[in-house]
Amino acid sequence: MRSYEARYYDGRSTAATPVVVELRPGEDGRVLLHVDGLDVPRAFAMSALRPHTRVGSSSRMVELPGAAWLEFGGGSPFDDVPEPTLTGGAGHLLAKLERRWSVAVAALAISVLAVWVTLASGVPALATRAAAIIPAAVDAQIGAGGLTLLDQRVFAASELPAARQGELRRAFDEMARDLAVQGPLRLEFRHGGEAGANAFALPAGIVVVTDELVQLAQHDDELRAVFAHEIGHVVNRHSMRMLLQNSTSALLMLVLVGDLNVAGSLVASIPTVLVHAAHSRDFEREADRYAREWMRSADIPIARLGDLLARLDAQEPRSGWSYLSTHPRTEERAQ
Ligand SMILES: [Zn+2]
Repeated sequence: MRSYEARYYDGRSTAATPVVVELRPGEDGRVLLHVDGLDVPRAFAMSALRPHTRVGSSSRMVELPGAAWLEFGGGSPFDDVPEPTLTGGAGHLLAKLERRWSVAVAALAISVLAVWVTLASGVPALATRAAAIIPAAVDAQIGAGGLTLLDQRVFAASELPAARQGELRRAFDEMARDLAVQGPLRLEFRHGGEAGANAFALPAGIVVVTDELVQLAQHDDELRAVFAHEIGHVVNRHSMRMLLQNSTSALLMLVLVGDLNVAGSLVASIPTVLVHAAHSRDFEREADRYAREWMRSADIPIARLGDLLARLDAQEPRSGWSYLSTHPRTEERAQ
């Protein structure tokens, strides 16, 4: 009589007991399934067992009366039993599907597509919604924390004369009034260092312009055009959306759990996400469109932005943090 090794689960705990299973004829001639290795040997009528179909190469599970189970890793007394007579429900269907390559390949394709769709559209959409529910106080915390971090790692204090700073600040504030920007908005000057001639929009409406960029401009309207572009990033919450898109875990905590303690992790990613990474093309187009509309309404030639970009382009050497790496190709935008 052949015996089989199996694991016995009593249905109350997850502990498995190794047992030996054998089929032996009972007194009335009917075959019984004997389980040896338990505290008390047990025997079951075959009609009382519910063997399940195997999915792929998984173990064979057999339901015993009560809540107990037998798990056969190798062979089992049920391997020759025709599939349709086995218990399965979903398991049965799964076993059938598993054996069909076409179904498996289609399932894989659907999974890949679902992941792609989620990454391509789901995450940005979720980030847009999440950015909208972040309270102003948390936004302010992330913006201020991010600037502090950039001051420690990248920027130095601005060397622009106070009078020049005041002049540009007045132009900036005038634009903010003109554009009727909701929420906070403030201009900061910094020496860019390795960030070079550059401009950044941080959360909480903080726009940073580097000394190098101011010095590169030959007309204040060129700087106004840059201000307008950065304000376009601010009004559309681009930096917060970028931060959230780049931190899926923070995004999910915020959207699913409403956990606002994500601020810390978002602050930490500001240097990488907002300075090193390229803005998405969609965000740049949106900010450019915003800038163009304002320039048109303020009678500033659209070419002013292109002029400054062309001068940036000609600058050598270009550091990895140049305006060009954080913003898309100049020719495309100058058009
Ligand atoms: Zn930009």
